[in-house]
Amino acid sequence: MKQIGDGVYFVSDTAYATIFVVSDKGVIVVDPLPTLGKAYLQAIAEVTTLPVTHIIYSHDHLDHIGAAKLFPASAHIIAQAETRRSLEMLHDPRRPVPDISFDQTYLLELGNQQIELFYPGPNHTPGNIFLYLPRQKILMWVDVVYPGYAPYPKLSVSTDIAGTMAANKKALDYDFDIFVGGHVDHIGNRKDVETSLAFLIAVEESARQVLVEKTFPDYLKATGLATTEGIWFAHDDYEKDRTNACYAQLFPAWEKRLQGLSRSLKSHCWAMLVGLAISLPPATIPASLPGSSK
Ligand SMILES: [Zn+2]
Repeated sequence: MKQIGDGVYFVSDTAYATIFVVSDKGVIVVDPLPTLGKAYLQAIAEVTTLPVTHIIYSHDHLDHIGAAKLFPASAHIIAQAETRRSLEMLHDPRRPVPDISFDQTYLLELGNQQIELFYPGPNHTPGNIFLYLPRQKILMWVDVVYPGYAPYPKLSVSTDIAGTMAANKKALDYDFDIFVGGHVDHIGNRKDVETSLAFLIAVEESARQVLVEKTFPDYLKATGLATTEGIWFAHDDYEKDRTNACYAQLFPAWEKRLQGLSRSLKSHCWAMLVGLAISLPPATIPASLPGSSK
């Protein structure tokens, strides 16, 4: 645990991380992490005797909010509407359904503390939000930016790649010095959020380029179906071929900038190649970013 601003405490088990905020009226818990479990309650008890009055879910994923049951049942639970919808469908006793939800923005004011919640649109999950503490200049956004590290594989298993890129750009509109990404053992800063966007753009550009460089018909002509287990697997082989090309193009420039990239870069390339094939618009990033004109 480390204090990172007035009343704001960063807690981490070194792999997962989150914050809680102590006001003069009670404690706001963000993401009741199951890996911390009761240690989260002990951390709070070390700095205040005030009760937990609010729990904010950054998004619906179990690995970030699965310890919600350990906290007082009287505490309000706040989340974006998509997160609530998902949890209503899942009926998971470990993840109680929020009693407060919002579509675009929600301002939580408790005593002397203020947290602005903002929904940038679908990204890592359909309801994943920004949490902003204007006085402390802290921005939190979970499961996209991993300060110093490469993202979790497959672009952090993003459910919406274009949305994630747009949200990454939008995050930079905030005035913040400290960034909390929900993972790793340390806080980040503005530079980490910039690096994340630059990386996503680089992966997109490379993926587009390798697809143009060698199209699927080109690939079939060059290899012939005889080398595959049939037409259904030919595209799979093509994706592997183009993934390797994307990796070769990006790795030398990025290996020093993001730790662990050798483990995950191929998965990022593959996720982007598939994204381009099934959902991304044809214009280049960043011009195509929905948030770029605002
Ligand atoms: Zn997640």
